[in-house]
Amino acid sequence: MFHDDFVTSAGLQTVLQREAKLLAPYAMHSSDSKGRKYPETEQPYRGPYQRDRDRIVHSSAYRRLSGKMQVFTGEMGDYHRTRLTHTHEVASIARTIGRALRLNEDLIEALALFHDIGHPPFGHAGEDALNECLADQGGFSHNHYALVIAEQLEARYQSFPGLNLTFEVLESQATRVDKTAGGPAPLLEAQVVEAADSMTYDAHDTDDAVKLGLVSLDELAEIPLIRDTISSVHQRFGGLRGKLLRKAVVHELIDRQVTDLLQTTGPALTRHRFASPDQARRSEFRIGPSPSLAERKEQLESFLYQRVYRHPQLVAVRSRAQQQLRTMFAGFCRRPALLPQKYRDRAESIGIAAAVGDYLAGMTDRYCEQQFRLYFQNEPL
Ligand code: MG
Repeated sequence: MFHDDFVTSAGLQTVLQREAKLLAPYAMHSSDSKGRKYPETEQPYRGPYQRDRDRIVHSSAYRRLSGKMQVFTGEMGDYHRTRLTHTHEVASIARTIGRALRLNEDLIEALALFHDIGHPPFGHAGEDALNECLADQGGFSHNHYALVIAEQLEARYQSFPGLNLTFEVLESQATRVDKTAGGPAPLLEAQVVEAADSMTYDAHDTDDAVKLGLVSLDELAEIPLIRDTISSVHQRFGGLRGKLLRKAVVHELIDRQVTDLLQTTGPALTRHRFASPDQARRSEFRIGPSPSLAERKEQLESFLYQRVYRHPQLVAVRSRAQQQLRTMFAGFCRRPALLPQKYRDRAESIGIAAAVGDYLAGMTDRYCEQQFRLYFQNEPL
């Protein structure tokens, strides 16, 4: 039997050696991490990004993703994606791509699990309502709120506020906040997560919309990407129909997008021979779909936008949710005594409006409904 010290120190060494052997020079190696704001001793058997991933998974904000809608609400059944299942799909696709491109999968996993953690209740509708309520405070963005969660709101450790994630995870998230800000491109690992996010929602929103009966596959076949996908499913499997066809189309949609990205990006990465992550970030090279697939994805996205996201059933749910959030925002600002102690304390340092915004943004859809019914249902919407 090994002595404890031997096992533990060998554990971390194994992580670093494994990376040195398997990762490309342009990947973000754990040994080159800029570390954490509050310095900590490295963990004996996990690399820094594995530790970040675990801190994210154990955070309360992460658990609450299961109660936050992606596009469709809980009232529409329990088949469709929540923020949490979306997050898992993104992580699994992003890791597959990352491994194929010899990038740092642990960092990719941490970034993917973190990427949507700042979403408020009721998806983008909730975000728009909070953005309006907080206009005087500089507005609200879920990407920025993820950083507030990670650096201030999560209280799990005695020696520092927040999760004390590595510089690379926080910096990658910061690049999502303002995509038009200059500076070097995000790390390749962050670019992979961005691409996987887009592949994932294009595929699963198509799936959910058909399953919920908001559009049919026949209607979606107007879109070249879906038409070709259906015909290649038919070629492969013959006469699939109904839900088997829908499911096969979703698999095929993901497979096509991943294959296209690897075929576009893999050879280009080899050609560039980047010697470091920094060199890759400062070049013109970006990870993403081929121009022709990008165009086809846009056609699908604008179809989904017109026919699904703006479907009357969803518009009604969204506008009700937005009115509730506005009423709750005004109500909590007027009656701060209704806030939990943590947010009353927070109001002392950042002001009542910003503290109420933070409180509302952290809620699940159901908790938000409950709080609304408890305190504000008699107030005019
Ligand atoms: Mg996402």
